[in-house]
Amino acid sequence: MSDCIFCKIAKGEIPAKKAYEDDDVVVFHDINPKADVHLLLIPKLHVESLAQCDIRHQQMLGKLLLLAPVLAAEHGLAQGFKTAINTGVGGGQEVFHLHVHVYGNR
Ligand code: 5GP
Repeated sequence: MSDCIFCKIAKGEIPAKKAYEDDDVVVFHDINPKADVHLLLIPKLHVESLAQCDIRHQQMLGKLLLLAPVLAAEHGLAQGFKTAINTGVGGGQEVFHLHVHVYGNR
């Protein structure tokens, strides 16, 4: 989507501190971290939220979740980490491009 800030980050049109990228997924550091490490895992495909996902998104969702512990370990979160997927206004979502928060203290 042309006016989506996370699509722009995925395309490299606005800067972000990227931690991982492949054909389907981008991971970058949250601009306003809640912890020592705070990563956002997003699909390159624009999907508004978890509520818009269906069976076609199964592989992408699995990939995002399986990346979470890998990225957490790479960033030194040896004691564990938190994940969050805020969904919709009522769920506290502010950026309407699906993302998984992964955060924790070293
Ligand atoms: P939400 O409340 O939608 O689950 O979380 C959105 C997150 O995106 C927030 O933690 C916020 O700090 C982060 N964020 C918003 N705009 C930007 C941005 O332009 N760059 C980065 N790196 N993070 C952003």
